[in-house]
Amino acid sequence: MSDLIQDLYREGEPIADTKCPDGPIENRWTEAKFENKLVNPSNRRKLSVIIVGTGLAGGAAAATLGEAGYHVKSFCYQDSPRRAHSIAAQGGINAAKNYNDDGDSTYRLFYDTVKGGDYRSRETNVYRLAEVSTAIIDQCVAQGVPFAREYGGLLDNRSFGGVQVARTFYARGQTGQQLLIGAYQAMERQVTAGTVEAFTRHEMLEVIVVDGRARGIIARDMVTGEIETHLADAVVLASGGYGNVYFLSTNAMGCNVTATWRAHRKGAFFGNPCYTQIHPTCIPVSGEHQAKLTLMSESLRNDGRIWVPKNRDDCDKDPRDIPEEDRDYYLERIYPAFGNLVPRDIASRQAKAMCDDGRGVGPKVGDFRRGVYLDFADAMERLSRDQVAAKYGNLFDMYQRITGESPYDVPMRIYPAVHYTMGGLWVDYDLETTIPGLFAAGEANFSDHGANRLGASSLMQCLADGYFVLPNTIRDYLASGPFEKVDEQHEAVVEARAEVTGRIEKLLSINGERSVDSFHRELGHIMWEYCGMERSEEGLNKAIDLIRSLRAEFWRNVRVLGSADTLNQSLEKAGRVVDFLELGELMCIDALHRRESCGGHFRSESQTEDGEALRDDDNFAYVAAWEFGADRDGDDVALTPTLHKEDLVYNFIELKQRSYK
Ligand SMILES: Cc1cc2nc3c(=O)[nH]c(=O)nc-3n(C[C@H](O)[C@H](O)[C@H](O)COP(=O)(O)OP(=O)(O)OC[C@H]3O[C@@H](n4cnc5c(N)ncnc54)[C@H](O)[C@@H]3O)c2cc1C
Repeated sequence: MSDLIQDLYREGEPIADTKCPDGPIENRWTEAKFENKLVNPSNRRKLSVIIVGTGLAGGAAAATLGEAGYHVKSFCYQDSPRRAHSIAAQGGINAAKNYNDDGDSTYRLFYDTVKGGDYRSRETNVYRLAEVSTAIIDQCVAQGVPFAREYGGLLDNRSFGGVQVARTFYARGQTGQQLLIGAYQAMERQVTAGTVEAFTRHEMLEVIVVDGRARGIIARDMVTGEIETHLADAVVLASGGYGNVYFLSTNAMGCNVTATWRAHRKGAFFGNPCYTQIHPTCIPVSGEHQAKLTLMSESLRNDGRIWVPKNRDDCDKDPRDIPEEDRDYYLERIYPAFGNLVPRDIASRQAKAMCDDGRGVGPKVGDFRRGVYLDFADAMERLSRDQVAAKYGNLFDMYQRITGESPYDVPMRIYPAVHYTMGGLWVDYDLETTIPGLFAAGEANFSDHGANRLGASSLMQCLADGYFVLPNTIRDYLASGPFEKVDEQHEAVVEARAEVTGRIEKLLSINGERSVDSFHRELGHIMWEYCGMERSEEGLNKAIDLIRSLRAEFWRNVRVLGSADTLNQSLEKAGRVVDFLELGELMCIDALHRRESCGGHFRSESQTEDGEALRDDDNFAYVAAWEFGADRDGDDVALTPTLHKEDLVYNFIELKQRSYK
């Protein structure tokens, strides 16, 4: 292992995805499934799996493993599995069905996703994702998911950013909700059948590792405060993304990193933590009071046209009074091939560039107007107001409820906001982390999206992982059982419980002067300012210092109200902010070490002449898998993680400068 680099991190041995099969790419998944060992049905009942998370990834996995006959314990912190954050997904889910016969194929979905991720994802994983995509749609249709249909009865498709075909299946602006109801019903069937036990209002606070293998979790009953131990033969984390490290994001308020961060602290490597997606079409921030941002689905870019005034003097005019010739439809101008449907990272950066140029619209926040128009006037003329309402009515209503303006009459105002995290626990081809027996699925793993996720590809990945990939790969692991019996008196279990109770006691005993939220808000400001849409060496170094002192202050001065043995939202939040404060530092270290731009990671020092992200394939064509490490100085802790590089090899797709022009 190396000495500290830049006083921040070490470099360790490279890491490889040893489970990734060889041979023709189109046969790899079939062969892997065949090679994976089987568990006979009567043995399945004797094997148990804990699944943390009931979103699309966790809900689908629980339903499928329950149906197969394993004993599943499912956990979520909401009052119903059906309220997992996946319910918020609006726009749609991709699949290479090629119903429109517009040139789509498994290979094209594979190609678009690798290119969309700016060549920072694994070819074999992405091919599998594209291959499985069609089965997802069949499964969901069989469950009764009400996808939109065309007049002739076929499922309808629309386009999302970064592609030139229409492959996105949708259920109006509620695709996530409808898919989640499908997964939830399938899971509830297993609850009734007795294979799945559901624990709602339970928060996992620690993973139990016995002799190097994941064997359970410590969870807090959020209603009674009781600390519970749950043991199993394998553990799956399907706990979603960590975009709320930025405080303001489009994620549900409860989304957090605790499950994966606690696993990281116990030895699971964290992959590409700095890869964050900033979504271009969100309702702009309106002031300091906000605790949440709202997404306007990317589907709106199918028909809405994005523009800003050509002249700065027009920015405060009523947009309807600005004539056509004074409007700059900048995405159509700069990227004629893809127009308003360029990928999210590109659309977001251009919106920022327009506002930085003084041509933003809407009220000023600080010295700047941070907004661009998304205009449906042309679409309503081309299609009719009713047809636009049929496609996007619920999104328009939501926008009007929040802003008081009707998009039927005035263009929407939108601005980029934090939306999704491509980083997550490092997993191999089997979705297994570096802790044997600990798997990660859905947004919680570092996933298949490289440095930028294409729209409608997360739902695809979550359901691919949950319904098809994990059930096949975890089987191989479980087949290597039976595993040694572990009971609650085991040293590792006692230690994990003590870690949880010790942390809770400490949080409640500080009794300082600042609220948990004020720390979270300040962390969010730091992350947005220095590790947001644009990152620089100077800014990231500053952010690391700021986060360290904020964390030190947190442990001296936070005020956590209430007690441990009851419902206590202040305590819940405090525990999550503790983990965000460490994750934020790792994200900045990752962003600092990656001295290239790729996808959503834009380093100001690495750009082309016309301001596009400039990759450095010679030096950075790898996944950064971080091992936890920290130096302690009294109560103050500085992360000193170790970097393990997984080289990305491209045998099927040529590495190119990404272009959507
Ligand atoms: C507003 C919005 C719209 C979106 N629209 C789309 C779209 O149209 N298409 C698309 O492809 N993607 C979309 N996405 C992204 C997509 O919705 C998410 O990436 C995806 O739903 C994540 O699913 P998941 O199963 O991984 O996790 P989630 O749905 O986030 O579920 C996480 C689960 O883990 C549980 N959990 C977490 N931590 C703990 C813990 N410590 N203890 C116990 N339980 C825990 C939670 O209770 C929950 O059940 C959208 C995202 C947002 C924010």
